[in-house]
Formats: sequence, structure tokens, C-alpha cells
Amino acid sequence: MVSRASSRDDFEIAIICALRREYNAVVPLFSELWDQQSEDDEDNDFGRAAGDTNIYANGRIGRHNVVLVLLRKMGKRAAAGTAAQIATSYTRVSLALLIGVCGGIPRYKRDGNEDIEILLGDLVVSTKVCEFDFGREYPDGFAPKNTEEDQPGKPNKNISNLLEALQTDIGMKTLRQKTPEYLQAIRERTPIHPEKYNFPGRNADKLFKADYRHRHDGAVSCECRNWQNARDAVCKESLKADCNNTKCDETQLESRRIESRQQFINKPEDPVFHFGAIASGDRVEKSGIDRDQYVRDLGVIGFEMEGAGVWDELPCLVVKSVCDYADSHKNKKWQDYTAAVAAAAAKAILDVYPGRDKPVDRKLSRCFRCPSP
Ligand SMILES: [Zn+2]
Ligand SMILES: [Zn+2]
Repeated sequence: MVSRASSRDDFEIAIICALRREYNAVVPLFSELWDQQSEDDEDNDFGRAAGDTNIYANGRIGRHNVVLVLLRKMGKRAAAGTAAQIATSYTRVSLALLIGVCGGIPRYKRDGNEDIEILLGDLVVSTKVCEFDFGREYPDGFAPKNTEEDQPGKPNKNISNLLEALQTDIGMKTLRQKTPEYLQAIRERTPIHPEKYNFPGRNADKLFKADYRHRHDGAVSCECRNWQNARDAVCKESLKADCNNTKCDETQLESRRIESRQQFINKPEDPVFHFGAIASGDRVEKSGIDRDQYVRDLGVIGFEMEGAGVWDELPCLVVKSVCDYADSHKNKKWQDYTAAVAAAAAKAILDVYPGRDKPVDRKLSRCFRCPSP
């Protein structure tokens, strides 16, 4: 039986989310939440350090005490500020999981040869974080800096060991088995509109060719009619409309080799885990051509906006599920489902993470010669 945490020192895991929908998907995974049980029970208040403005939810997921926090807004700066405050209030945090949705690249090479496809709903786990918006703007385009001094550091030993453990056969087996199970638990414990966490279906997973721009295809009256090249302007209305409304040309879709992923999953809709570098920056990547250039420059497999901020302040693993292909056709259709996939994966990762022994209680270990305080 795991007992209730008695103070902030009993928390070793922080979960950080940038969006409310990501936060909402994590909450059903708590076996217990301890903050709002009774107004006049002071024991329920874990408090926070002076100057800390974060609002925390404290509870237990599996065998770990977990503190959950929602960023006040998206982006590296808000993430860094929130993470730094977590570090002052929860000084024993050894693993911060940044959980949520991200843009994914369509495919990458594993071990230099095998072509691995990333589909919507898959998971990207960071082995490192690259700031893709840090670099030099040249007349012919932007070049990110990719030297060791210019980029966030490597994960510490504890995180490196966890990454290794997750990628062993036994680690992967846990992730593959437990993630769909926890995803189902999120649905069952969500009383209002649990169907938002249902798999949207592979027919709703559409990857357009990188140079095929989202626009009113066949337009006669708007700016889209002049479109010829990937960098040409399109009308503002098309930016807000989804591909059905713009009538994006489905003959420009890329075919996927879905059968090649059967070796990694139990059921066709199950997410595949991909480990690699994640691009993190304060801008949303919405161009297939630029996406592919960053992949060549930085070797990244996903795009998101908070990892670089958390990375410098806390030992961090970014765990994000792919809700779009970081191109101009992106929309929000997959966001709720992928938010839940990321939350489920986080719990599966915590099943592998051992945690540390509690520090020895100083009252019990006090020297008998010393006077009582
Ligand atoms: Zn248009
Ligand atoms: Zn489109």
C-alpha cells in the first residue's frame, strides 16, 4: 500500500503540459489527487516556495507521487519560468515529463538505413532537444545553429539510463502493452465526452507532398488562384479552413506503408514509439519544405514549443504524440486523441522508472548526544 505524500519532498516526478486538453487527459490517470479533499484539513495543502506562482495538482500515479502543472501559455519562455519554479518548490524532482501533442516528420532512417514511418497518433520521445529557431537569418533563408555549445545539453545520467531501459526489449514490451491499456482507462474515467479520445481512423491521417501547399485548390476569386510555387502566398481564409473546405487535392497525398509497422504493435491503431531528437522553438512549424530542411539540418523527428525551456531547468523527457505533420495542412482533428495517447505513454514510462529511496528521516537519525531542537 502506497501512503499519501507528507510534503513536497516526497515528490520526484513532475508532469508539465502546455495545453488544457493535454492536462485534462493526464488527470484521469491519477489514482488519487490530494489537493481538494477538505477545506479545513491543513495536511492537504502542500504549499509552494516563496515567489512560486505555479498552481499544482498533487497526487499519485501508479507507485509514484506526481505533481502536475499547466503552463500559463505555450512557448519556451513560459516553460522555462514554470520549470524553474517547480525546481524551487519541489527540490527532489528527478524526472520532469513534458507531455502533449507535437508535429511529426513523415519518416526517418533508423540506424542509417531502415526507413521508419511516423503516423498520426505515434509517440515521439526525446533523446535530445534542438532549438530550431536559434540560428542565423541569411538572404536566402534561415540556418539553425547546431553545435554543442549552441544547443541544450545532453540528458543527465539518470535520464540517459531511463532512455536505455525504455528501448530494451522488456522496456518496449511494457510501453506497447501498457499505453493502449492506459488510453482505455482515460476513456473510462472521463465522464463527459469520452469519445473525444477515440482513434480518429487511418482515413483521417493524410500526408500531403511537402511542396503541395494548403490552399483553395482551383480557386478563381481569391489570392490562392495565383499560387504556383511552394513559397507563393495564399489567401487568409484558406489558412483558417481545413483541407475539406479548401478542397486540397488528394491526388497529392503520399502513400504510406502501414503494413511495415505491424512488427512494432499489437493492434493496427496502436501507437508506435519513436526515440530521437525533438525540435523545440517559439514558432509553429507549418511548412512541409522547411520541415524537411530542419530534418536534414538537425536530424529531428518532431516539432514542439516547450522542450527547450524545460530542458535547461529540470531533468526532462519530452513525450509527445504526433497530431499533425508540421505542414500547412495541419488541423486540430487529432489533438484530443493524441493528448490522451501522450498521457497514457507517460504512465507507461513511469512503470519503467524506478524512482529513488526516500531521504533518511533526520528526526530518526539524530545523534543521541545532541540536544533536542
Ligand atoms: Zn483562397
Ligand atoms: Zn490542405
